Formats: sequence, structure tokens, C-alpha cells
Amino acid sequence: MTEALKDMVKAEILQGKTTYRAVQVVSPGKWELTSKPVVDPPFGHVRIRVERCGVCHSDAATVDGLFPIEWPRVPGHEVVGRIDVGTPNSMMKGL
Ligand SMILES: [Zn+2]
Repeated sequence: MTEALKDMVKAEILQGKTTYRAVQVVSPGKWELTSKPVVDPPFGHVRIRVERCGVCHSDAATVDGLFPIEWPRVPGHEVVGRIDVGTPNSMMKGL
């Protein structure tokens, strides 16, 4: 990802209320900046405000087109963040 794209994502994260910006892969090796709606979590789940995200080997293989997936795909399933919204039975005690 280029520095300019990183700066655009950072600026959009600070502004977002009903949408958030994400970098998605539209085809193997082709990235684009997109906007996604912020949705409430289904019953029993939480929504996390992502503060950091790792990109692992599986993500790299996905981006390279090595897995049979549907495009586009937002890589980065290893996140660190804070629970933003929870529903009954979704909140773990002690967190
Ligand atoms: Zn992983």
C-alpha cells in the first residue's frame, strides 16, 4: 500500500460515522480504496472499532489470488480494537 493511500485511510477513519473506509482487493494484486457501511452487530455479536490490523500469510495468499474466493475482498482478519457495540449475551465479562 502506498503512503498516500495510508494517509487517505487514516483521514477517513477520523471522519467516519455511518461509513468507514477500507482497502479492498478487487482482483489478484489490484487494490482500491472503498467505503463500507457501519452496521449494527447481529444478536450475540459485537462490533469492534479497529485500531490496528495485521496482515498474515493467508491474507497475502488471498491478495495474490492463490485461494478460490469471491472478489472484492478486504484483507486483514487479525485485528486489535475496542468493542464499540454489543448485544445481549455478546459481552464477555472482565474485558
Ligand atoms: Zn491470519
